[in-house]
Amino acid sequence: MLRGNLQLMKSVNKSIILNKIRQEQPISRAEIAKQTKLTRPTVSTIVKELINEKLVTESVLGESQGGRKPTMLLIKKDSFYIIGIDAGPRSIKGVLCNLAGEQLHHIMESYQHPITNESFLSLLIATIQPLIDKISTKGKVIGIGVAMHGVVNVETGTSLFAPLLDLKDIPIMEVLEHTFALPVKVENDARAMALGESWFGAYGQQASMLAVNFGNGVGAGFILNDDLYHGPDSLAGEVGHMVIDIHGERCACGSYGCLQTFASAPSIVRRANSEIDGYVFTSSKEVYELALQGNEACRTFLERTGEIIGIGLTNLLHIINPEILILGGGVMKAERFMLPAIHNIIQNRSLTPSGKNATIVISELGDSAARLGAVALILAEVFDPVLKV
Ligand SMILES: [Zn+2]
Repeated sequence: MLRGNLQLMKSVNKSIILNKIRQEQPISRAEIAKQTKLTRPTVSTIVKELINEKLVTESVLGESQGGRKPTMLLIKKDSFYIIGIDAGPRSIKGVLCNLAGEQLHHIMESYQHPITNESFLSLLIATIQPLIDKISTKGKVIGIGVAMHGVVNVETGTSLFAPLLDLKDIPIMEVLEHTFALPVKVENDARAMALGESWFGAYGQQASMLAVNFGNGVGAGFILNDDLYHGPDSLAGEVGHMVIDIHGERCACGSYGCLQTFASAPSIVRRANSEIDGYVFTSSKEVYELALQGNEACRTFLERTGEIIGIGLTNLLHIINPEILILGGGVMKAERFMLPAIHNIIQNRSLTPSGKNATIVISELGDSAARLGAVALILAEVFDPVLKV
């Protein structure tokens, strides 16, 4: 599975040391030995390898304690690069990051209709190639991560079903690996968002976390026991199809009254047009803007939508009990009206006092969470102490 530069990372000890440097840099060899409980000679040998592999660099930044300043270690962040892709229902967005996850170049390409598997893959390649061209030596790009909406088989890197493009069985990993001769990882976009939050978000790496995205669809990613949870059929996180009203509207999935029929951006437009008199809305943003201007009907509508979302989230909190719940997606831009209603519902309906006060926050990464999560798919192969090889 792992080839090229990723093969550098062979031992668990090496990953533990590399991850320690990433998290604590600048850090001395002695401090690494102390914190990891590895012996000093082991640390020295592995650090030497990491320096030879250009993953780590030395710097004399240490605090002088009377004697010689200790040599400190840093991740050599611009020695290797990663490409992160967010393949959404309207466009494909890409980013080129260094090993520190710093975003160096962005690109966006829009679909031409009709969209077929072939035209989708061509656009994907056309988005990635200019990012690779930004780096003079191709070998410095160590992998491509793709966040794809819909159901994804992460083992084969195939998009099994992309409902918003109406495509099936797209061999993303196979085609990209063949085209670019680089390791490729593919993940569902909401799960990638959870990973992006975990690696780069403002709320740190939590052992358990739930990230829910409210955009063109509604989906979630769970981190359980420090690991992204998929389930045997990669269906974990399809929370948009949790039924809220068994007599509700028919959903794209064939069921009725799913959370997505209330809380996705298109369903907010549809509901606002049927529930609010005197306006024809073309986007959920218009509802939000009118609410901001003081329109009572729009405010009430968004608060009511927040209550429905709160019901869905209460169900999820009772099932998963995460340390933190992170909400993202375009719909959450209306947090001012929705979040108090969400808190209210959870306060009223959760089982225990701590459940009632669950930590619920709005993503600070916003639109970039999914593509940063795609970057983290590759970074995890380099830095994660427990290598899944
Ligand atoms: Zn549904």
